[in-house]
Amino acid sequence: ESTTFAVRVAPLGSTGQVLVLAEDQTERLRVEAVRRDFVANVSHELKTPVGALSLLAETIQDAAEDPEAVNRFAGRMQHEAARLTYLVQDLITLSRIQGAEAIPTPGPVPVDEAVHEAIDRCNTKAASKDITLVAGGTEGLNVWGDDELLVTALRNLIDNAVAYSPEHTRVVVSARPAGEAVEVSVSDQGIGIPEGAQERIFERFFRVDAARSRATGGTGLGLAIVKHVAVAHGGEVTVWSKEGSGSTFTLRLPAFGGVAVAVPRTTSTP
Ligand code: ADP
Repeated sequence: ESTTFAVRVAPLGSTGQVLVLAEDQTERLRVEAVRRDFVANVSHELKTPVGALSLLAETIQDAAEDPEAVNRFAGRMQHEAARLTYLVQDLITLSRIQGAEAIPTPGPVPVDEAVHEAIDRCNTKAASKDITLVAGGTEGLNVWGDDELLVTALRNLIDNAVAYSPEHTRVVVSARPAGEAVEVSVSDQGIGIPEGAQERIFERFFRVDAARSRATGGTGLGLAIVKHVAVAHGGEVTVWSKEGSGSTFTLRLPAFGGVAVAVPRTTSTP
């Protein structure tokens, strides 16, 4: 890690003395580099499906006499178009929330409802791999947040758990009160994440295995979205993982009303 200074030297009148101003530019340069990388990554990620689409369109023209081939290529075009759609959707979600000062429509969100809605949206994909999705401990807990963003974050975590797990496994979504917060965890019995990569997976477009991520329909933005949703809520997301045995992602969110434990109603006796 190097440090960069911008140095300015100004004479102090005619005293013969000079004023030296040194300003640390390291952070500004780092932010600029991250932005440049992001633009380059977005361009590359957009160009790939567009390139594939135009190639497939050409191939279809050449194969016009072969209905079976036309069918196959049309299917692949749909696949590439869907990928482009997911990517654009994720980019829009990310740009809406990153750096946001506040969440769009805050309110009390029942954890149970958010978890079940997220599970519903992942059911088809889970069923196709015979992965069982189970939820537990979510009843009676409420967080303070934007329900749509929270469902998106949970869905991204469950989606990943399914994508990076072998067939016939379980994904468990559980919640528990933790002081002024609620912790929602998504645990899988999947491939796990190498220790050296665990810190980087929340970066935009970082993937442990790019080919695998693309094959499962990943955009590389899912966890960046989860992180920004957590931060926008004043919460955080953490990961525990062991290669070959599974991962647990934990979303920590502020409890509605400041306390996560349900307060029993006291009945006043006269
Ligand atoms: P992607 O679209 O590639 O899944 P994400 O931002 O959601 O993008 O995740 C980044 C990377 O983190 C993935 O490419 C994968 O390598 C790793 N990852 C995320 N979730 C899991 C998980 N539950 N198990 C194993 N690896 C995971």
